Amino acid sequence: MTESVTNWAGNITYAAKELHRPHSANALLNLVAGSSRVRVLGSGHSFNEIVEPGEDGVLISLDALPPEIDVDTTARTVRVGGGVRYAALAREVHRHGLALGNMASLPHISVAGSVATGTHGSGVGNGPLASSVRAVEIVVADGSRGRFTQGVTDLFDAVVTSLGAFGVVTALTLSLEPAYEVEQHVFTEMPLEGLDQATFEKVMSAAYSVSLFTDWRAPGFRQVWVKRRTDQPLPDFPWAAPATEKMHPVPGMPAVNCTEQFGVPGPWHERLPHFRAEFTPSSGAELQSEYLMPRESAVAALHALDGIRETVAPVLQTCEVRTVAADDQWLSPSYGRDTVAVHFTWIEDTRAVLPVVRRVEEALAPFDARPHWGKVFTTPAAELRARYPRMDDFRSAVDALDPRRKFTNAFVRDVLGG
Ligand SMILES: Cc1cc2nc3c(=O)[nH]c(=O)nc-3n(C[C@H](O)[C@H](O)[C@H](O)COP(=O)(O)OP(=O)(O)OC[C@H]3O[C@@H](n4cnc5c(N)ncnc54)[C@H](O)[C@@H]3O)c2cc1C
Repeated sequence: MTESVTNWAGNITYAAKELHRPHSANALLNLVAGSSRVRVLGSGHSFNEIVEPGEDGVLISLDALPPEIDVDTTARTVRVGGGVRYAALAREVHRHGLALGNMASLPHISVAGSVATGTHGSGVGNGPLASSVRAVEIVVADGSRGRFTQGVTDLFDAVVTSLGAFGVVTALTLSLEPAYEVEQHVFTEMPLEGLDQATFEKVMSAAYSVSLFTDWRAPGFRQVWVKRRTDQPLPDFPWAAPATEKMHPVPGMPAVNCTEQFGVPGPWHERLPHFRAEFTPSSGAELQSEYLMPRESAVAALHALDGIRETVAPVLQTCEVRTVAADDQWLSPSYGRDTVAVHFTWIEDTRAVLPVVRRVEEALAPFDARPHWGKVFTTPAAELRARYPRMDDFRSAVDALDPRRKFTNAFVRDVLGG
């Protein structure tokens, strides 16, 4: 490829024959029909090779297509193009007095790429971002268009959290709700000692979305971020002290990059993400991993990590604990179980980080940990497959929709096995 394309973090340079940016739907259809191996690049915020088509494959970016965002205020849905990012989507939805149910920590990511990897925010009652998807429009292998609608089309539960394996997603229809306001309160220093599972449930249920942050330099949480919808009760939060200054979840990074704190109410899309759209999210020089486990194992899993914190802390910038409600997408890391998600923002040194990732995976293996599809993991493929009860159904869906495996790259081949 003449143009070198890397992911956002810069740790992966994609191997590909060509990068294409079609300017029209027809150009896209012809490109797909005329290529033997295809992968789509979203906003490139994944930390592994999930996007990569390989030396003989074509990489397609949809960022030259018109950015469609069509809000239907009567149906309370939005139809959003396959290259659109959450920041643009959220602004437009809010302009119509409507809202998404949840967002990830940053608005910079594409909607199609996010739901393809099971991306999530936090909240005991909030499923992953894919749970708001009602329909998916896909250009399949022969260049024709397919539409998959929730409750209507059999394979809907395969094609949203898809790992990009079925075709090019050209549009998604998402459900919306009336716009709401959120206020964000940050607390500091919540000990792990004495935190039993019942208390963990109370902490994480205290508001619409709750995140715990630790650097594992000590047992316990440096920060707790509590995002309350102003149409829900003000939580009593006796487990930690209110912060006295604005905070960034990564120690040493400027709090100005983060969404408003100290309980100042504001629109949902300017409070649910931790990071403001106009700034670099997180630290910018980093790798990330994340493991999703049954929520009832949360405290046991946190103690397992506490047992290896001296290994983890030297390569860690921050670790975030969130919750995700169970969903129905077959390859969703929160499929079929209410989930605790433990995320790691590592330093940007792959060689130093990988052995620690392996150590974390060993510690979390007893909890049936499913790695985030868009982050760094080393879980062997056979173990991965065993953690997804609908993996065989997913593979059959790929066989049905893409029998020649035009959209299967090395990453997906490894996951599917066989
Ligand atoms: C700073 C930072 C913060 C993050 N915070 C969170 C967080 O809070 N929660 C969380 O769960 N994750 C988080 N992530 C991970 C991120 O959400 C995922 O990696 C997500 O997939 C990024 O979307 P993307 O558009 O960049 O996807 P990409 O990395 O570009 O692609 C991901 C997958 O989607 C496919 N794809 C993309 N677009 C299409 C399309 N139109 N049609 C078909 N396939 C497509 C790609 O082929 C690939 O398989 C974070 C990442 C970063 C860098």
